[in-house]
Amino acid sequence: MEGQVREISLILLNCGMGGNGDGITNAIARLGENMAASRCSLLDYNDENRGFDLFQQWCAPGTAPLEADFHIPAVVVAPYHTRLLRGEAVIVSRDRTDRDNIEYSLLEAGGAHSVLCLPILRDGSLEGVLILSFPTSQPELQWPAEIRPLQVTADLIGAALARKRLAGELEHQASHDVLTGLNNRRKFEELLLQEIERTSRYQRPFAVIMFDIDHFKRINDRHGHDIGDAVLNELATIVGEQVRDSDIPARWGGEEFIVLLPETGTEGARQAAEGRLRRRIAETLFTGAGRVTISLGVTQYQSGDTLDSLVKRADEALYRAKEEGRDRVVVG
Ligand code: GH3
Ligand code: MG
Ligand code: MG
Repeated sequence: MEGQVREISLILLNCGMGGNGDGITNAIARLGENMAASRCSLLDYNDENRGFDLFQQWCAPGTAPLEADFHIPAVVVAPYHTRLLRGEAVIVSRDRTDRDNIEYSLLEAGGAHSVLCLPILRDGSLEGVLILSFPTSQPELQWPAEIRPLQVTADLIGAALARKRLAGELEHQASHDVLTGLNNRRKFEELLLQEIERTSRYQRPFAVIMFDIDHFKRINDRHGHDIGDAVLNELATIVGEQVRDSDIPARWGGEEFIVLLPETGTEGARQAAEGRLRRRIAETLFTGAGRVTISLGVTQYQSGDTLDSLVKRADEALYRAKEEGRDRVVVG
């Protein structure tokens, strides 16, 4: 048992500070194997649906995996909530649990004969549960002596899960704009460089649309900075809704935005810029600001382009759209 704790600590430590998913995957697999379980599943508390969502699972050969959207309502473990909060492991077994008991569904979900639930606690609240499922009756009386090391293992996996979440949040913060939630310029440039590399390998077209709000200074001056911010936010939402799933919109800076359109040539991008962006935004009544227009520059990737040359061409086209009277699309 102590050997197991050591083994799992090493797996999780060696997967690095990011606590990436592979470390957790390996740890729950080792735990499941060592315990001769049929399944080891890690569930994560989700406040929105008041229950535990499946995060990762390991299944013994011959055991069918749980559906990816597997979920245990919090009420199912409610009878054990106090014990789990105290850090105690809970055993539910067909031998001892009445079919009418709500926790019986824990056994039915994976077709288990008994399950061992280990709480994952953080700051005094139940953040998740680690569930070991067994196909047959277990010699439960031997368990208490073994449960302490199991709980340490669950704590280690819980800490790795917390690190993974934090790493995800940090990655999101580093790559997204706080006001609009769109990709920020740094992330966009990274994705654009990837697209340039892909295009030079597979010769697939792609285009970018760069746009800027017309007379945005006036909007700020007339209605105040907060309304200006609200306009940026509302506009970003429209852009997010209007582009295809494969397109990548970003806040380039200030009141300038950019969209990468994979698998799109000049004409497709011009039509998207005109129909989905310019016209759609011109037709919108923005909260507190009314009508807002944008000017757009469109360009397609040309062989030999660098990130700078491509963006410069889009920017020059945008500049011409401004010069020619704003609220229009210019192709560069
Ligand atoms: P043009 O049609 O030529 O683009 O005119 P403009 O007034 O939009 O010109 P310009 O690009 O010089 O002005 C942009 C303004 O956007 C200036 C800046 O104060 C404002 N701005 C930039 N970022 C933000 C922001 O995050 N929130 C708000 N409210 N305003 C911003
Ligand atoms: Mg500007
Ligand atoms: Mg502007």
